[in-house]
Amino acid sequence: MAWEYILLQTLIALLPVGAMLLWLTKPERGKNMSAAIVTASGISLLLGMLSHNPIEPENFLNFRLVPYIIGSLYGGIPGASLLTVLYMAARLNQISSTVSIIFLGAFFLLFVPYLFSRIQRFQSSGVRVRLRIVLRCFLAGCLFFVANAVSSFSEPKDIWYWVYLIVFGLGTGVILLYSIQAVELSIDRLKLQVELQEVSANYRQEVKRLQEFIDISPLVAIFIDNEGRITQLNEMALKTLAPYSRSDLIGQEYWAARNLFGNETLFESISRVMKGVERESEVIRFRQRLYYTTVCAWRDEFNQAMGVVLIAHDMTELQQLKDEVDKMERLSLVGQMAASITHEIRNPMAVIRGFIQLLNERSPNEHHSYFHIILQELDRANNIINDFLSLAQNRIVEKNTRKLNEVLEDLMPLISADANMRGLVVELSIEEDIEPLELNVKEIKQLILNLARNGMEAMSDKGVLRIEMSNLDDCVQLRVQDTGVGIPPEKLERLFEPFFTTKTNGTGLGLALCLSIVERHHGKIQVESKIGEGTTFIVSFYKTEAGMAAAGA
Ligand code: ADP
Ligand code: MG
Repeated sequence: MAWEYILLQTLIALLPVGAMLLWLTKPERGKNMSAAIVTASGISLLLGMLSHNPIEPENFLNFRLVPYIIGSLYGGIPGASLLTVLYMAARLNQISSTVSIIFLGAFFLLFVPYLFSRIQRFQSSGVRVRLRIVLRCFLAGCLFFVANAVSSFSEPKDIWYWVYLIVFGLGTGVILLYSIQAVELSIDRLKLQVELQEVSANYRQEVKRLQEFIDISPLVAIFIDNEGRITQLNEMALKTLAPYSRSDLIGQEYWAARNLFGNETLFESISRVMKGVERESEVIRFRQRLYYTTVCAWRDEFNQAMGVVLIAHDMTELQQLKDEVDKMERLSLVGQMAASITHEIRNPMAVIRGFIQLLNERSPNEHHSYFHIILQELDRANNIINDFLSLAQNRIVEKNTRKLNEVLEDLMPLISADANMRGLVVELSIEEDIEPLELNVKEIKQLILNLARNGMEAMSDKGVLRIEMSNLDDCVQLRVQDTGVGIPPEKLERLFEPFFTTKTNGTGLGLALCLSIVERHHGKIQVESKIGEGTTFIVSFYKTEAGMAAAGA
């Protein structure tokens, strides 16, 4: 009978911890833990205290301290207050002797305040401190058992009374310690679960970010595992290897790389890295583009080879740029040499010209026409040299604020005379209010003359040369339009190259000079041409540097 009662009380005292073991299995329940433990403790407290005690009806031996202490410590001040009220109510209901009343008063005056004073510290501490607090609470509770025992000496008791007293006293301690250990373990397990969730969420996000990074990278990246199969590749790789899709490529044997890139050296690099070489680099050509490829070993955190990564960098544009710069450097060297040579030629030519003039004066009249031709040709040669020199020297020119239309109007008599001689018509259209710009008049004259002359040279008789000037928002625009032969597309791109000419007497310097003049004036030059219909040169002089940048010039 008595042992059954002890067993029943033990089960009731284990109620709070049992409830916690069940409750703390899901991370989201962590928040409601105190409410749950207070509820379970309250039930356990009431069941334990109200069940019929066959051993000692007077003293009501049970494990009530277990749910009371556990529930109060985990439940915080509100939970503890609630449990205290329950405890008091149940206890008052059972009181029968004066001794019991004294015990109860002492319990509420001494033990309860002590328990409440420990709650704060309990909740903010780790497991070891918690164990210590529970142990001290238990010992404090034991004092009441001892006092109970001492007070019982006055009346004669049988031996079983003492046995039960000891069983319940020690049992309370054992169950308390077990409960707190088990609850703490469940809390730890729960924390671990939460941490695991966080870590795996972080990990997933990190993996996603990495994949995004690999995808937006301008490099081709292909991962190949130890078995030689493609395991992963990025957007750039797919773009490069189109029309193959991701599913076509993933899982492919790496000899596919040989087929994909059609390149034996790359294939051999991959094989070497697979056999243990750390890294190999190769420049390969693939579909008319140039790639700098790097194959490196791909290792896990224990430095075990997991495969290789193939990274390819498209260098086509870079290489083109490099070639261009090389060419420019060579050209500029040649240009500088040519410039100094032509400069030196001018001196002897000046001497020759002087003597020819002298000879001209002293020779018979019938020879004058020859000398005239010699002088003319010498002047032409001199002009070519001057053009060339102004092209070659990138000098800083002096500019004045002038209106473009004034410069054009100054030139018109010259252009009209030229056109008249060729039997061509010149039309002029100038918008009003042309904004003044910073100009070097000499250079602008040269520009307009070159364009007009080219136009006229492109036309046989009965052509019309139209010169227009307009004031746009961001620039002043000059258009020189002819109705000549036009320029075939393949020649269009070489137009501004120095010495590019299609004329037997041409120098090919005119347009090159025009380009350098326009560039010095923050401008842009465009050509529109239709074979057989004519050509228009459009020169835009930007009013501000910002306008020029916006126009992409
Ligand atoms: P050049 O006039 O001495 O040949 P340019 O640099 O002025 O040198 O012109 C280069 C070439 O561009 C010309 O030889 C001609 O073939 C072509 N070209 C220039 N302007 C025109 C035009 N208005 N119509 C047709 N072709 C032109
Ligand atoms: Mg010309």
